[in-house]
Amino acid sequence: MPTSTPRKLVVLDRDGVINLDSDAFIKTPDEWVAIPGSLEAIARLNQAGYRVAVATNQSGIGRGLFDTAALNAMHAKMHRLAAAVGGRIDAVFFCPHTAQDHCDCRKPKPGMLKMIVERFEIEPGNTPVVGDSLRDLEAGAALGFRPHLVRTGKGEKTLAAGGLPEGTRVHDDLRAFVFDFLANEPA
Ligand SMILES: [Mg+2]
Ligand SMILES: [Zn+2]
Repeated sequence: MPTSTPRKLVVLDRDGVINLDSDAFIKTPDEWVAIPGSLEAIARLNQAGYRVAVATNQSGIGRGLFDTAALNAMHAKMHRLAAAVGGRIDAVFFCPHTAQDHCDCRKPKPGMLKMIVERFEIEPGNTPVVGDSLRDLEAGAALGFRPHLVRTGKGEKTLAAGGLPEGTRVHDDLRAFVFDFLANEPA
């Protein structure tokens, strides 16, 4: 039986991982500001043959703070700024619901990550999930993804609160994750 090459993918949370987070929500393209080095880090992953998917809770939509058009405009800015440094985000999955909606996609529920597994035909066991909140890591761990916490965004609070999924690795930021991940990549 021929063995297929594992498909190379990295799954990222958005707020607090790629861009600066705000307790007041990121509601407009102007409020969407990249964390220094994050878009360049995505470009490095691409250059190493990885695709990048984003899975992000956006309950601000369900709360009526902004609409899907505003979210699309934010993501157009994200894609444009990533492209300017040679980076590419292949897909953005978002949950527009609030906790009261009891949907299957709001992290820590694994719905968005299940869709990513199907869309990209990947093995979760080979695939890192990078987040700044426990729920990002829990959603990934539920499907066997490899959990990575960054200290940006809510990361320091998340680390202090403890209870991280077994095997979680901790990095200063997305740039540090990429440096470490590519250095330890299986040949
Ligand atoms: Mg986050
Ligand atoms: Zn949802």
